[in-house]
Amino acid sequence: MIPGVRRSQFAAYTLATYVGAIWSLFNCLQSSLSYLEATLKLCQGANLIIQCNFVVINTILLWKGLSKLLFGELRLLEYEHIFEKLSFTLVSSFFVTSMYSGNELLGVLAFEGALIFVKVFHWVLKDRLEYVIQNTDENTSLIRFVFSKFVFNICFLAWVDYATVAYFYKSATFRGKRALDGSTQSILFGTSFAMLFVDVLEVALKTLILAVELRQLRRAQAQNEEEGAGLEGKFIYEMISELICRCIKVGLHSLLLFALFMPVMVVKDIIWDSLAIFQTSRLIWKTLRSNRQIDEKLPTVTRSELDSADERMCIVCMDDMLPTDEITHPRLKPKRLPCSHTLHLGCLKSWMERSQTCPICRVAVFDEKGNVAPSVSTSTAQGQHSPGSESNARSAAHADETVWRRNVASVLPSTPSNNPSGSCRWYAFPTVELQESNGRTIQLSDVTGTEKTLTITHISRPEYQKDTSQVPGKVVISDSFESSSSEIDRLKRRISDLEGKVQELKKRARTE
Ligand SMILES: [Zn+2]
Ligand SMILES: [Zn+2]
Repeated sequence: MIPGVRRSQFAAYTLATYVGAIWSLFNCLQSSLSYLEATLKLCQGANLIIQCNFVVINTILLWKGLSKLLFGELRLLEYEHIFEKLSFTLVSSFFVTSMYSGNELLGVLAFEGALIFVKVFHWVLKDRLEYVIQNTDENTSLIRFVFSKFVFNICFLAWVDYATVAYFYKSATFRGKRALDGSTQSILFGTSFAMLFVDVLEVALKTLILAVELRQLRRAQAQNEEEGAGLEGKFIYEMISELICRCIKVGLHSLLLFALFMPVMVVKDIIWDSLAIFQTSRLIWKTLRSNRQIDEKLPTVTRSELDSADERMCIVCMDDMLPTDEITHPRLKPKRLPCSHTLHLGCLKSWMERSQTCPICRVAVFDEKGNVAPSVSTSTAQGQHSPGSESNARSAAHADETVWRRNVASVLPSTPSNNPSGSCRWYAFPTVELQESNGRTIQLSDVTGTEKTLTITHISRPEYQKDTSQVPGKVVISDSFESSSSEIDRLKRRISDLEGKVQELKKRARTE
């Protein structure tokens, strides 16, 4: 049902609309001498509003019936996406129709209405693909998948688009390469549906990729292979199908540019699609590069290293890792990241198609130049901070950085600087901040649970350089640290915003 509108309210409104429409029709017929006069009366004043409302309500009813037939009950997410996109589409349709007047206006209005009507089904189809991907696993039968309602919907929408494109292009007349004036609208309308056809093509290509993956999974299951790997490079194939469809769109729009000489309307789309093509190609190239590098540049974990490790499980697939001579497939090779976490080669590849960081501790795997990032000890990466890393921080300081001086000696008796034996205690870094005036007071707690209060005073860099006193534990904190902490605060606020939204949606879903 439509969120926010009760079913009974909608039913009552529909009933009132029908009664109103019949009443106005009856009134016009009774007070007129001919059908022509009645028709004219229907298109005036209050009658027009009643009839328009009648058309809108019937369109909604038709849409609901058709969507139920094709997609069943729509999910909340699909409704949300429809309303999100609808407002934008309505505005752009309004701009298109505002360019016409008189007799043409009515035709354009009808066409734009029909286009939006069909478009909504395409949006749902795209969302439904995500749902199908999430709900397809090695237990799904391939035959059932191929003959599913979803595949039927793809074929059905493709047929609708194709038939409409063919109809409009047939009704257009060309002289040479240039369209005649009367055909401009036909070609524009045809192209709008051709774009929808390309959208369906993209969904179809991705569904095909999913079907191929499903076939592999089923085959692996039939041969009783425990490591039924998904389709390797699936992400790349998906990106390539997106790229192909974008290129077709740019091609179609360019044709329109030459056939109609309508730069204003078309150039925007061409630029938009070209940008997307550029971004997708870059993503494909980056993924291909990191795929190659993962195997070449990251060290393979040896048998003895695996034996001495306390954790052998791969976090992505939750299976244990085996030494190289025991594995049945190259994708099961155990690989070590710079943060010393280990994962299967194949699992790492599929993870890194979406993120360039370690799935456990989020430390970057490769640096900007594509080299393996410098090793980080796992415990530091996991959010603990050792006083010993001060020297690193100092060496990383640049000329314009803010300088902080921390009087560590007074509060932390066992830091390396005044503890010759070098034993140091580890302090959990997420801290409680107590006050912030001329500096910061932070509460720390160590592994034993003992709490310490630490004061940090802020002084500018020139002052720091003049200050020759040997304060143990002088530390430089870069400006980037400051900006990251404000970024963290911003993200925290965003997370709590989103959590609130989720709660609200859950509540709404429950009441409906
Ligand atoms: Zn794995
Ligand atoms: Zn890690």
